[in-house]
Amino acid sequence: MAEKKGKKAKSKSKHRVSKKSEKYKVEGDKIIREREFCPKCGPGVFLGKRKLEGKTIYYCGSCFLTIEKKD
Ligand SMILES: [Zn+2]
Repeated sequence: MAEKKGKKAKSKSKHRVSKKSEKYKVEGDKIIREREFCPKCGPGVFLGKRKLEGKTIYYCGSCFLTIEKKD
């Protein structure tokens, strides 16, 4: 049982950085929203973002909506 302590505690904190404030970027006195909200789920549900061959793909982790945007 003593083995559990040192092994597992670390790996979790690395992957899960999910504070809401980190989805906003502040530049000077502007706040830049880095993520779009899901049009279906409404404000509060952020879309994930992924670049793919000149396109930007937004996807909702909640309703699985996917939106493509060209840069
Ligand atoms: Zn959604």
